[in-house]
Amino acid sequence: MSSTYSNRQFDLARTQLVDLLRSKGISDQHVLDALNSIPRHHFVQEVFQHRAYEDSALPIACQQTISQPYTVAFMTQLLQIRRGDKVLEIGTGSGYQACILAQMGARVFTIERHFDLLETARSRFEELGYNIASKVGDGSVGWSQFAPYRGIIVTAGAPDVPQSLLRQLDDGGRMVIPVGDQASQNMIIVERQGEDFAHSKSAGFKFVPLLGKEGWRS
Ligand code: SAM
Repeated sequence: MSSTYSNRQFDLARTQLVDLLRSKGISDQHVLDALNSIPRHHFVQEVFQHRAYEDSALPIACQQTISQPYTVAFMTQLLQIRRGDKVLEIGTGSGYQACILAQMGARVFTIERHFDLLETARSRFEELGYNIASKVGDGSVGWSQFAPYRGIIVTAGAPDVPQSLLRQLDDGGRMVIPVGDQASQNMIIVERQGEDFAHSKSAGFKFVPLLGKEGWRS
């Protein structure tokens, strides 16, 4: 597949990717439908467009990555969001994950530490017609102005669960965050019930680091 691929060929490749994700255990139809709706080839550099529907992470600018589609689907499924939920994403990157959440009907707030990445992501939000609130900053301390959030998704690997993010999680809300060392992380799911924060975890992942006050020191 080259960058001269037609939209029809991209559509077919996307459908095949969604079938693959289903076979890998993604069962939430809303998540699969969202991945089938968002043109991932718009979120990668032209040189990588022919690989946009492989189930792999790909390089983006600023030495960052757009996450593997399976990871995006897995984390989104864990969030259990419903239409109208307010969701905070840390690590806008390409903007792909934010659009998946918006496509599912969430009111999305996203933070990125690289201005250049955020500018490009914003142009994609506009081009695809998504109304997503975004800012440049250190997402490890959250975005208190719009808290609390029904869902918080952190798309960079953290050394620990940031306390600021716990405080900004709504009662009954869920946070999904990869936590570990910089070589590998476990996916941590935090569920808030009043002042109780129940933690559970699942399998190993590899993310770029969450840098910041409540992340890794850069
Ligand atoms: N969600 C993205 C997407 O859909 O393309 C992929 C995110 S990429 C794996 C992780 C991103 O987190 C990078 O763009 C990185 O710059 C960003 N990041 C790392 N630490 C951050 C922080 N403290 N605040 C905001 N963004 C951060």
